[in-house]
Amino acid sequence: MNRVYNFSAGPSMLPEAVLEKAAAELLNYQGTGQSVMEMSHRSKAYKPIIEKAEALVRELMNVPENYSVLFLQGGASLQFAMVPMNLAKKGKAAFVDTGVWSGKAIQEAKKYLTVDVIASSKADGYNRIPKVEKISGDYDYAHITLNNTIVGTAWKTLPNTGDIPLICDASSCILSEPLDVSKFGIIYAGAQKNLAPAGVTLVIIRNDLIRNADSPLGDLPESVPTMLRYDTHAKQGSMYNTPPCYSIYIMKLVLDWIKELGGTEAIGKINREKAGMFYDYLEQSAFFKPTVEQDSRSLMNIPFLTVIKDEEKAAEINKKFVVEAEAVGLVNLAGHRLVGGMRASVYNAMPIEGVKALIEFMKNFEKNNA
Ligand code: PMP
Repeated sequence: MNRVYNFSAGPSMLPEAVLEKAAAELLNYQGTGQSVMEMSHRSKAYKPIIEKAEALVRELMNVPENYSVLFLQGGASLQFAMVPMNLAKKGKAAFVDTGVWSGKAIQEAKKYLTVDVIASSKADGYNRIPKVEKISGDYDYAHITLNNTIVGTAWKTLPNTGDIPLICDASSCILSEPLDVSKFGIIYAGAQKNLAPAGVTLVIIRNDLIRNADSPLGDLPESVPTMLRYDTHAKQGSMYNTPPCYSIYIMKLVLDWIKELGGTEAIGKINREKAGMFYDYLEQSAFFKPTVEQDSRSLMNIPFLTVIKDEEKAAEINKKFVVEAEAVGLVNLAGHRLVGGMRASVYNAMPIEGVKALIEFMKNFEKNNA
């Protein structure tokens, strides 16, 4: 059986070693005679899985003691609502607009508080991260999208927000390189790109932001549903209701795999090598070109275009590229409709061989179509 190199923006590739381990344990998990899929989340066999997953997140991300690690549902999209629902107090938040996903977060937050969009790269077609050195004001929090999956930009230097909690959507870059958790109030990420199959959302939250009757910020309004209070999940170890057990189990295996590779330093080095190799190729190519400014380039999502100016002809070539790439096992390279062209998502699980194979394919495509 031939596996393909899947360049999808998400859900995406999982490490082969993880899939093999899951397959080996699928029918009979460690002598229990059951699959993890079939197990009670409160069973003796399951408890160590979720506990180990949390311990590994803490270890690999160096999560300080005063933070909680939660496994929630509803995707990153539900965090667009949960964050303002749980943090609105003064009634105002600062957002940086870096594309579609921050736009969605802004739209949702507006239902609960006043949103100040303090910077935006819209005028540049979102092809860079705006310069924001400092955020100040009477804000409940400031929100950024750490890696922008569609346009392929990423923050390299975080804004200084002083006492204002900095909240980030790290869906498409979580655990791809070292990140200083202590700089954030909340980090959230849908798992289906770098961590696990879809269904679980990782939330790392500073404990003073988890509101209840005893918290410094005071309790939440009665109207906030129980399931949408961070407090509910923090108090119950993400077991208030049935968690996405199997996705958490796979996340635990992925975290084991990252640890074995040498942690975030090691994976960051590999990711810089993979992305560097690909950007270098795009830079020197006379046929393809990257779309993002040098200082804002994502290590995970790399959109690119051909140099063909005629729109119709370019669209035809793009289509041909995607079809021919798929025929040789390089799949899901079509660009997002908002950017056009092509996009290679090279998350943690994409082996360096996959990137090399793509570059070889592109060299040939360039020769045959230039
Ligand atoms: N934020 C970012 C940066 C994303 O890439 C995505 C999904 N592509 C989302 C949020 C939405 O995530 P979910 O589908 O988990 O709600």
